Amino acid sequence: MTPDYVSFTLEKVTSHRDVDMVWDKCLRVIQENIPDQSYKTWFEPIRPLRLHGKVLTIQVPSQFFYEWLEDNYVHLLRKALDYSIGRDGMLEYSIIVDTGNEKHQPLTMNVPTVKTPQTARPDNFGTDLRNANNQVKDQDSLQLDTYLNANYSFDNFIEGDCNRLARSAGFAVAQRPGLTSFNPLMVYGGVGLGKTHLVQAIGNYIRNHFNEKLVLYVSSEKFTNQFINSIKNNTLQDFTDFYMKVDVLVIDDVQFLSGKEKTQDTFFHIFNHLHQMGKQIVMTSDRPPRELQGLQDRLLSRFKWGLTADLQTPDFETRIAIIQKKLQSEGINIDYDVIEYVAHSVNSNVRELEGVIISLMAQASLTRREIDVELAKNTLRNIVMDEEKEVTIDTIQEIVADYFEISIADLKSKSRKKENVYPRQLAMFLAKEYTDLPLKSIGYHFGGRDHSTVIHSIQSIHELMGNDPDVEETVQKLRSYFK
Ligand code: ADP
Ligand code: MG
Repeated sequence: MTPDYVSFTLEKVTSHRDVDMVWDKCLRVIQENIPDQSYKTWFEPIRPLRLHGKVLTIQVPSQFFYEWLEDNYVHLLRKALDYSIGRDGMLEYSIIVDTGNEKHQPLTMNVPTVKTPQTARPDNFGTDLRNANNQVKDQDSLQLDTYLNANYSFDNFIEGDCNRLARSAGFAVAQRPGLTSFNPLMVYGGVGLGKTHLVQAIGNYIRNHFNEKLVLYVSSEKFTNQFINSIKNNTLQDFTDFYMKVDVLVIDDVQFLSGKEKTQDTFFHIFNHLHQMGKQIVMTSDRPPRELQGLQDRLLSRFKWGLTADLQTPDFETRIAIIQKKLQSEGINIDYDVIEYVAHSVNSNVRELEGVIISLMAQASLTRREIDVELAKNTLRNIVMDEEKEVTIDTIQEIVADYFEISIADLKSKSRKKENVYPRQLAMFLAKEYTDLPLKSIGYHFGGRDHSTVIHSIQSIHELMGNDPDVEETVQKLRSYFK
């Protein structure tokens, strides 16, 4: 007979190995589902602590980290737990509140995971519809899953020249759905400029202010899938009936309907019905209607009945305001010079801008380091290098300074010495060529010069290249470093 304690010890040992195994399995699922950068930022720092029955405890570096995981990866974590432990697997977080020192252990607190909300299955229209119908019958609890995300509101949508028309039209529609001439409202603009945010804000506003109105947000992709399923399951009539019942239909990314003739026919049908009944339709697209190829003319002409408003890339001031709002909502303070640096360096779209800020906050909470310009630079370099392999202004400055054997400080300084002026002008010239930064931002990165100085520098290099073969050769050589 084996004494009790032996099996006890054995069990201890196994369970220790179990926790690593279980977490490894989770990580495999997670890694397959998110970009590398996010995986590194959010999942590599996690330590699996223990597995008690079906409860897996993981240690995360901070409260912020925990909240971020719960806000953004709750479904993914659920999926990972399903796979590694099973449907009844649970997650518990152990949050490091104080990293401790030689004298005392790190202080942690435990939080059980929030129960993962039941997600409506996107491709199974039958299920969605049944739920929706039950709920519609039960008028006191209109719990229809409207696919609205409450985090998107007008309050946290920063207004700027870039979005003024779209925002105010959206707000007008939200206040008087179906009653303005903005029907349909079509919002278009490039990726990450806030289309989804704005139209979700419209939906949320209506839901909060008009109890009786049925608001539905759907991506065109989901709409298409539901349509296809309804054909497969012989429930096309249910599908159209369902959509014809809504008071406000928000349909995101209609460019996705391109070339899908059958889906377009049905959408056309639903569109006409809703419009006739005075119901509000809101749409987004990544390009203006006239450039939407593969969409039927009759649909396109309907789109133009209401108002078409575009979202542009935000200008510098709006970018600053967006960053500040974001930080404020996370309760985090960052020095203005860092904010300014980021706003000057990321100017393509808001999603990217947010990505940088989030990554900065994560790093700050990991390393417990103050967020300074240096950290911002490194973060930016990692993100840009990893994802786009673009040349950054910092790389240009480093390479040029190196080439001429001067310091970066000299390159940016006010010094009028010839040995500094020429490299400085060259670096600005290359910055214009390799980055899509506006002149004002290039000036900022060169010791706060104004944009006319940048123009002057670029012109000088142009002229020199025309007159002096040595300069031409230098430029070629420098260019070769960026290829
Ligand atoms: P799109 O749908 O155009 O690709 P999103 O609506 O998903 O873009 O926006 C990308 C991110 O940028 C979101 O997190 C959104 O909240 C944020 N964002 C975009 N525009 C603004 C704005 N004007 N104010 C605040 N946040 C914004
Ligand atoms: Mg979108």
